[in-house]
Amino acid sequence: MTEIKTVGIIGAGQMGAGIAHVCALAGYTVKFNDVSEERIAAGIAGIERNLSRQVARGMVTHEAMQAAMPLIISAPTMADVGDSDLVIEAATENEDVKKAIFRSLAGYLRPDTLLASNTSSISITRLASVTDRPERFLGLHFMNPVPLMKLVEIIRGIATDPETYETAVAFARSLSKTTANAEDFPAFIVNRVLVPMINEAIYTLYEGVGTVEAIDTALRLGANHPMGPLELGDFIGLDTVLAIMNVLHEGLADSKYRPCPLLVKYVEAGWLGRKSGRGFYDYRGEHPVPTR
Ligand code: NAD
Repeated sequence: MTEIKTVGIIGAGQMGAGIAHVCALAGYTVKFNDVSEERIAAGIAGIERNLSRQVARGMVTHEAMQAAMPLIISAPTMADVGDSDLVIEAATENEDVKKAIFRSLAGYLRPDTLLASNTSSISITRLASVTDRPERFLGLHFMNPVPLMKLVEIIRGIATDPETYETAVAFARSLSKTTANAEDFPAFIVNRVLVPMINEAIYTLYEGVGTVEAIDTALRLGANHPMGPLELGDFIGLDTVLAIMNVLHEGLADSKYRPCPLLVKYVEAGWLGRKSGRGFYDYRGEHPVPTR
């Protein structure tokens, strides 16, 4: 079994940063990569802010934060990030982008390095097929926000070997996460159920059944969901929600998964939710305000 000490993370957005955060707190050295040094620095600054908030709330000690931050190392090239025991790809939800990343890692990996993707929906078997090691490849699907959410969905591709799977389960447990095993079908378990619900909520808005506020209040108080579905879509990122709906629609060839035209319009406008400042809510003021 590969002993994991160093974790390479590709993509320093909200998920990559969250994964780096929990890995460093658990004592792993993190090689942190994105398309530019600026993005990596922004990711590290975000982790520092989130850790400070956890310290202020008494969830993490000051000493643990002081020990974790230096473990996160900027790794701007594939050679830097490839020199790891496990590399987790957490870049934009786009199959071509992910395949290009895995192709460009070839030649920089140690023979025993394990590869994982944090994809929300894309076939693990297809992503693994562009690497030289499909047997050492699997899906490690963390939930957002990673420091708070307990689950990691683990997805084996057709070629993933049992040792890779067992190492991944032990790794997730070492981060104090619980695992659920999902087969390699579009969007796996969590997003197969969750994202069509968000899409349906957007149809409900599109058809005028309710306002943004009414729909979110209805699901929060009527179904006891901690967040309304539109609020949740904004939190995930509407580009990611649309990408997942497209994978479900194409992968399962069932019209019940067609993305709502209003979701497409928001993404085309660049209104991607919290991360871009506007989605179904406008986050640029002191409090979020519905945009419809
Ligand atoms: P994000 O938009 O916050 O971050 C994506 C990052 O990837 C960006 O910083 C971008 O610069 C970087 N990137 C793009 N191309 C790259 C490349 N070639 N090399 C290196 N970095 C590159 O997105 P996110 O929400 O962090 O999502 C990342 C992945 O995690 C996606 O696969 C998504 O489906 C998955 N995921 C998202 C959520 C969620 O709730 N947002 C939950 C679980 C899994």
